[in-house]
Amino acid sequence: MCGIVGYAGPQHPEPTTRPLDVALQGLARLEYRGYDSAGVATLEGERVQVTKRAGKLQNLREVLGENPVTAGAVAIGHTRWATHGAPTDGNAHPHHGGYDGELALVHNGIIENFAALRAELERDGYTFTSDTDSEAAAHLVAREMQRTGDLTAAMRAATARLEGAFTLLAIHRDAPGTVVAARRNSPLVVGLGEGENFLGSDVAAFVDATQEALEIDQDQVVTVTADAVTVTDAEGQEITDPRRYAIDWDARAAQKGGYASFMAKEIHEQASAVADTLRGRIEGGTLQLDDMSVDESVLRSIDKIVVIACGTAAHAGSVAKYAIEHWCRIPTEVELAHEFRYRDPVVTEKTLVVAISQSGETMDTLMAVRHAREQGAKVVALCNTRGSSIPRESDAALYLHVGPEIAVASTKAYLGQIIASYLLGLYLAQVRGNLFADEIAALMEDLEQIPAQIQQVLDRADEVEQLARAMRDATSVLFLGRHVGYPTAMEGALKLKEIAYIHAEGFAAGELKHGPIALVEEGQPVFVIVPSPHGRESLHAKVVSTIQEVRARGAKTLVIAEEGDEDVVPYSDVVLRVPRTRTLFAPLLTVIPLQIFACELATVKGLDVDQPRNLAKSVTVE
Ligand code: GLU
Repeated sequence: MCGIVGYAGPQHPEPTTRPLDVALQGLARLEYRGYDSAGVATLEGERVQVTKRAGKLQNLREVLGENPVTAGAVAIGHTRWATHGAPTDGNAHPHHGGYDGELALVHNGIIENFAALRAELERDGYTFTSDTDSEAAAHLVAREMQRTGDLTAAMRAATARLEGAFTLLAIHRDAPGTVVAARRNSPLVVGLGEGENFLGSDVAAFVDATQEALEIDQDQVVTVTADAVTVTDAEGQEITDPRRYAIDWDARAAQKGGYASFMAKEIHEQASAVADTLRGRIEGGTLQLDDMSVDESVLRSIDKIVVIACGTAAHAGSVAKYAIEHWCRIPTEVELAHEFRYRDPVVTEKTLVVAISQSGETMDTLMAVRHAREQGAKVVALCNTRGSSIPRESDAALYLHVGPEIAVASTKAYLGQIIASYLLGLYLAQVRGNLFADEIAALMEDLEQIPAQIQQVLDRADEVEQLARAMRDATSVLFLGRHVGYPTAMEGALKLKEIAYIHAEGFAAGELKHGPIALVEEGQPVFVIVPSPHGRESLHAKVVSTIQEVRARGAKTLVIAEEGDEDVVPYSDVVLRVPRTRTLFAPLLTVIPLQIFACELATVKGLDVDQPRNLAKSVTVE
């Protein structure tokens, strides 16, 4: 988790605000990655200056004052999601390293062998002032710097001793104008500017300064000055052609644009976000997935699909299962990435693994991807962030193109993941001949209506917001759905837990009578997601019965149903309408009222919607 920024610019004759401006702006953009504490370091002539504070970035800003200046040309910054040591000022990053504090370092990840390193460094006389694992890396790099006099070589030698996951950025008194970084299993990208260069956990850190970025691979070290970026591998060999790419995110997309929260904004931009996911992917009636670089003969030979993901992405994966099995007739499993690796999953060369992660850095998913590939499986990644680890380490990547998602609770990326799953499913059906071309074209035509239909749901946000305000004192809410309504129910419950801190459970409606119905008592709010009556009639009828069953036991029934579905009316306390679409596409619409509900409820409770307690957006620790 945690956000990291680095900046190297020209040495100005007078003190300048630029390095700290860039660092603080970058941290603001990355704060969704962690917000236990924040800090920055600069080089002031011979002195490495560290300023850091527990709490949100605002606390750090207050200490630094309005327009903080530096006499130097570099800055590094960090916003923390604590793994080792409480979120205090002292445990905040950057950490000093060396006998005189001549180095400053920020770290994202976990250093697993930190205790042994710390003992060794203490024996060497280095003083530790924090409880973090990261401080060991700071002293280790400083010790190597003392030995070699070269910060890049020092970083390389130090990282060779580290076990675990890390992105490290360091500045040193004796390396003016330079920031050196390294990564293993944690994210790092470089932004290429004119006469200045940038480092970040992702491109959101510097998207307003440059549109050019470089990918950094596993175990590479990168040395950044105002006018040069040098990438070397673990042996110190220069990488002459690191992968460059253009950033297609708009800087404005990383601003709230008049909404009370990023989450509200991201919910309301879902119509255009989904249109962006679909754009350019159907040409002349056939599905074109340019980035789908797995050989068609391989796709024809697969006999099983395993979707791996966590959290909201796993709910998108569950929707994918229904669609892929229906269209392609390939057995499809959905597995939480952290569970996948630790049992003995049956994965062969004929298995296609679909890894879903908004950030492309979810550590549990990344590890599962590696595990699957070691066993010969092909991996397709569905991700939003270019240059991130999971797409890089997969055989093919399908990007969501929904723009930066800043709020911790995922909304537009969820819809993008579902659309990307559909595209993948339809593409497989096309390649394997499960569906006729005209069937695929008809499905795509309906999919292309979805952005306008999403907008119709959003236009009725008021009704849901009113409901949320009326329910501000709810202490428990249940969500029921069947077929693709089931993952929607799970997602609705997750949203409410995440940001409104209300106990919420999602159930498969059919499971109700096997246990959960015991929870229903007078006044218990129960959301029910009703499938289209034009889909499978028996499915619709069963869910309408479920509404009656919970209502008979006193539940307050909050029903999400298609326009014109009158069957639900007699048994519903509230009906929230969504436009008619195909059964398999309904999750793109029915989840929206649930997102709005959670967002509004958290807002009226006065909670921090974008940065809920204990969470961070991109889970880069296992
Ligand atoms: N393990 C480090 C710490 O607890 C870094 C955590 C992070 O990635 O924010 O300070």
